[in-house]
Order: sequence, then C-alpha cells, then structure tokens
Amino acid sequence: MRELPDLIACEGCDAIYQKRSLHHREIAVCVRCGTELGRDFSRARARILPLAVAGLIVFIIANAFPIVEIELQGLTNQTTLFGAVLALYAEGMSLVAFLVLATTILSPALQLIILIYLLVPRSEAVQPPVFRWLLHTMQALRPWGMIEVFLLGVLVAIVKLSNMATVLPGIALWAFGVLTILLAAIISFDPRYLWQTVAASSDEGAP
Ligand SMILES: [Zn+2]
Repeated sequence: MRELPDLIACEGCDAIYQKRSLHHREIAVCVRCGTELGRDFSRARARILPLAVAGLIVFIIANAFPIVEIELQGLTNQTTLFGAVLALYAEGMSLVAFLVLATTILSPALQLIILIYLLVPRSEAVQPPVFRWLLHTMQALRPWGMIEVFLLGVLVAIVKLSNMATVLPGIALWAFGVLTILLAAIISFDPRYLWQTVAASSDEGAP
C-alpha cells in the first residue's frame, strides 16, 4: 500500500482531506460526518511528555526494588519482577514467564521509550523514516491497551507465584500502583496527533 503523506482519511466516513498544519487550539472536523480529524497538539505534548518521563522513572523504580519474596528449594529470597520472571521460568512455566515479561516489562518500557522519543521537540531535522516506523509501531501496539495488558500480566504473575511467593508491600508495589495511574493518563493521548509533526517537518524540509 502506498502512503500519501499529505492526505488524511476520516475514520468515520472515509472522506479524504488535504492535511494542513493547525493553529493553536484548532481542531479539524470532518464536514460530512463530524468526526474529529486532528487538533493542535502542542498542548497535549506539553502535558503528556512530563507524564511519560515520570512514568519511565517510576517504571525503573518499580523494577529496581524487590516485589515478591520467593521460596525455592527451602531458600527464601526477595526478588524484583524480573527475578520473579526467572523464577517462573526455572519452575518450568516458561510460557507464563514470557507472558509476564512481555506484558509487565517489555510492553510498558517499549511504549514509554518510543513515546518520549516521539514527543521530545527537536530543532534539527527529524528522520522521517525512523519517525514513521516508530509511530506505526506505537499505533500497532495501541489496541493491546497498555493498562489491561499490564494488569493481566501482574495478575497472572501473582496467581502463578501464589504458592511459591508472597507479594511484598514495599516500594516496588507502590511504584507499580503509581505507574498504573500514570499509564492511564498517558494513554489518553492519541498518537495520531504525532503525524502532524511528520507533516510539519516535511513541509519545512521541502525546497
Ligand atoms: Zn467523515
């Protein structure tokens, strides 16, 4: 499929519009069905970028401190979420271990890092192919609702670990709670708006 970077299709009725940059607080709406096509995203960026950075910091804290106390072969030790993943794997539950790793560690980390990269305002020319590819990745991951997937992973981990581990009410658990709230705020951001940055930068790059 060939992409037409200057055009935008209405999600409600498939009407095609010419893209143009929006002014401060301006919202573009489909004239045929009223579906929102895009809006000035500078305010959204100013709101979401700090949240995403905070999310990443809290994510690191959540993974740096022990979250469970695991009893293996008579030995008790406190371990981080990643340690719990390794313990699940060691117990022969490799599929569960992978599920927990993907949903609670890889998915939030990947989405937060990509989002921060895309949101950071840059004065130098962006590399549209990389930018576009990352944006596609973000939009591909989005249907897998960040929070639902994250909570599912946490739930699976707790259920599967329940007979060999105790959840520690410490820093890591609190950090995961805060992270859930931050993720909820962050996913309210629609990555569609980021396409405007691509459009704007290719306009500037044009001779
Ligand atoms: Zn429409």
